[in-house]
Amino acid sequence: MTDITLKCACGTVKGTAYDVSPENGLRVVCYCDDCQAFANELGRGTDTLDEFGGTDIYQMAPGRVTFSEGNDQLRCLRLTKKGTTRWYTACCNTPIGNTASSSVPFVGMIHTIMDDEGIRDQTLGPVRSYVQGNHAIGDLPPEKYNKGFPIGITLTIIWKILGWKISGKGSPDPFYGEDGRPVCKPKIVNEAS
Ligand SMILES: [Zn+2]
Ligand SMILES: [Zn+2]
Repeated sequence: MTDITLKCACGTVKGTAYDVSPENGLRVVCYCDDCQAFANELGRGTDTLDEFGGTDIYQMAPGRVTFSEGNDQLRCLRLTKKGTTRWYTACCNTPIGNTASSSVPFVGMIHTIMDDEGIRDQTLGPVRSYVQGNHAIGDLPPEKYNKGFPIGITLTIIWKILGWKISGKGSPDPFYGEDGRPVCKPKIVNEAS
């Protein structure tokens, strides 16, 4: 297991993802249009998305994530009122990750905040699944095509979340306060949603 430094593009926000390993999380590439819209909303599509519009995400327990510097720069948005809460830094719009709610101990950390370029395959393991290929841009290779979430990968992540809940790995949660609310008010991108 390895501790990975978290660092935004400008270096204001810093932190650590603890005990990272292929077993302690799940690495996926998501091609969904919402992940693409999030990166583009921040003006970070070019360095966040791969050539097919995919986002490299490591799903892990929020209790293993801490921010040591620049906590006041944490921001979040939702593309729609009830959508996924998507986190980024105010200083330089670096995508951080995606969360569901305080009661679901889960965060999908986005590669842009993880200072692990060149060692991701060793520390996180290879990509376990490519999901939502129906939203991919261009000619996605057939071996990366999955419509939606394959059932096996869905069950794996549900199983992991249950384990994290039982073992208390959901807290302390850097994204939610004691009251269960996000630590900052989510900006709703599409108010009419
Ligand atoms: Zn920054
Ligand atoms: Zn997605």
